[in-house]
Amino acid sequence: MLTVFGSTALDTIRTPKKTLKNVLGGAATFAAISASFFTKPSLIAVVGHDFPKKYYNTLEKYLDIRGLSVLKGKTFRYDGKYDKNLSVRKTLKTELNVLADFRPSVPDEYQKSDFVYLANNDPVQNTKIIKEFDNVKFSMCDTIEFWIKTKRKDVVKMIKSVYAVVINDEEAKLLTKEDNLIKCAKKIMGWGTRYVVIKKGEHGSLLFYEDLIFPSVGFSLESVLDPTGAGDSFAGAMIGYLASKKKTSISEIKKSIIFGNVMGSFAVERYGLEGLLRLKKSDINKRVKQYEKMVSF
Ligand code: AMP
Repeated sequence: MLTVFGSTALDTIRTPKKTLKNVLGGAATFAAISASFFTKPSLIAVVGHDFPKKYYNTLEKYLDIRGLSVLKGKTFRYDGKYDKNLSVRKTLKTELNVLADFRPSVPDEYQKSDFVYLANNDPVQNTKIIKEFDNVKFSMCDTIEFWIKTKRKDVVKMIKSVYAVVINDEEAKLLTKEDNLIKCAKKIMGWGTRYVVIKKGEHGSLLFYEDLIFPSVGFSLESVLDPTGAGDSFAGAMIGYLASKKKTSISEIKKSIIFGNVMGSFAVERYGLEGLLRLKKSDINKRVKQYEKMVSF
């Protein structure tokens, strides 16, 4: 059983061609919906009274939302603007709102989760919640510049409490104060986590485990509309795949990364969550086959 905890948001995303205002987003939302193509994830998150019913229905369609709290106040809001190549995103606003003082707890129905994903969120909340599960076989977390800049020590503590970390290349450098990705990964593993996956956007990712480095390429696309949530979709697919197999061997972790690349590629082809919501399982299997063809020689 998989539980995903993290931000559920109303996002404003400004791309060169289109601006989306207050659309359903959040790291936990992208990750859990991506994972839902492999297993039925349980969500723990918080929204405010302004959270539209249609978005509630979307979450309910894909996820077990018995762990979704609706509190008085405004939903977490994120506002970001991409440059003309969609390669750099500038954060214009992060409004924590109901997320700021959220005291998450694990619903009884989720207690037996053996896979837990701590999506981007306050590292103090993430570290608290992971300790409430009694039966964790595999856990993973992510983080973002905002938390590294405001709560770096807590981010390091969170990393100590999980089996794996997925993190963007730029954020790995910021967090570890190293310039080289191998050095970044070694430092992060030195803090007590077993696996580190450094995401490199369209260029794929690097998995580190003990002395092993497993590089994987991104699925090559001709058209990208909105990179938001690609990293979360990548991580959600990884842990969703592993939870569906109930396995965490290194060979399954490598396969989970391929599903991560594939789901990340679907996420960026459309705006917001649209890239994931229109998917069928057969689309995913087809793209995994194309990916295999791309990398075999
Ligand atoms: P990504 O494109 O993978 O970095 O993920 C973007 C998602 O992360 C958006 O939908 C945002 O709502 C969410 N997000 C942005 N900043 C934060 C933050 N400081 N904490 C938690 N989630 C965030």
